[in-house]
Amino acid sequence: MSCTNHKIDHLRLQIPRFDCVPGCHDCCGPVTASSEEMARLPVKSDAAHEAALVELNCVHLGPQGCEVYDQRPLICRLFGTTKSLPCPHGRGPEQLTEPRTEQQVHRLIASTRQVLV
Ligand code: SF4
Ligand code: SF4
Repeated sequence: MSCTNHKIDHLRLQIPRFDCVPGCHDCCGPVTASSEEMARLPVKSDAAHEAALVELNCVHLGPQGCEVYDQRPLICRLFGTTKSLPCPHGRGPEQLTEPRTEQQVHRLIASTRQVLV
């Protein structure tokens, strides 16, 4: 497993989970991810990507919410868990993500080639 994959796994564990408003996906939209994260996601057709983009949606957002929840990219996991990415509905974990972890996520994003999910 690559160094980046190790970092991704490590960072995933550092980001606390919380319960969203049931059925809410207001923070979903076009997001980017590293090629290592993309490799964990199912491949979607160009047509599916285009259809999602036209509606400013994420291609993995289905009628029941995120269809790749267990493998969603780091930026999706971070949302709602930091002061800079607050949930508009006031949801979030009791303990926010440590600033150090947030910085590591942003550093990883900045140091990897990001592609539209
Ligand atoms: S973090 Fe907030 S906006 Fe995003 S899905 Fe959860 S409840 Fe909705
Ligand atoms: S991968 Fe899932 S959580 Fe992230 S934007 Fe897409 S649907 Fe939302």
